[in-house]
Amino acid sequence: MALRTIVQDGDPILKKKCRPVTAFDDRLAQLLDDMRETLADANGYGLAGPQVGVMRRIFISIDERDLPEDGERPEDYETKYLEFINPEILSTEGEIMQYEGCLSFPGRNGAVRRPAKVKARAFDRNGNPFEIEAEGMLARCICHENDHLNGVTILDRAEYFYEDLEEDEIEEEE
Ligand SMILES: [Zn+2]
Repeated sequence: MALRTIVQDGDPILKKKCRPVTAFDDRLAQLLDDMRETLADANGYGLAGPQVGVMRRIFISIDERDLPEDGERPEDYETKYLEFINPEILSTEGEIMQYEGCLSFPGRNGAVRRPAKVKARAFDRNGNPFEIEAEGMLARCICHENDHLNGVTILDRAEYFYEDLEEDEIEEEE
């Protein structure tokens, strides 16, 4: 495994549309392993192909659905990941406005409206299709990462950025 460099703001790669994955081979597995390591190292929640310079329809996300209600991590908790290859969002429900960040835009926290629930379909690294229903942080992450595959980022989605708010506006928010 190896750490990959995370593409940063200003790189035109982040605005390009990705092509589907056609080969579910060792190279793909290696890429996914590297993306996991890179995501863990950066302490992020999700990471998409273009963010490591790969213009393919791939993203990964942390899977915390097995955490207890209070979000408290058991001592021996092992981080789990979900891998989405050639993903497709099938349906969405509701809407939540929340701040979200992106490893490609450090220090930027955009207020983004996202669906509360998402149903998606994708393939795993072996080429097996699966469907997932997600809500909360995972639903938000799936939408955010799926955007990356279409060249869309929080710069396009955010209605405003926390850092741009005046102090009195922040107080109003709270
Ligand atoms: Zn992102």
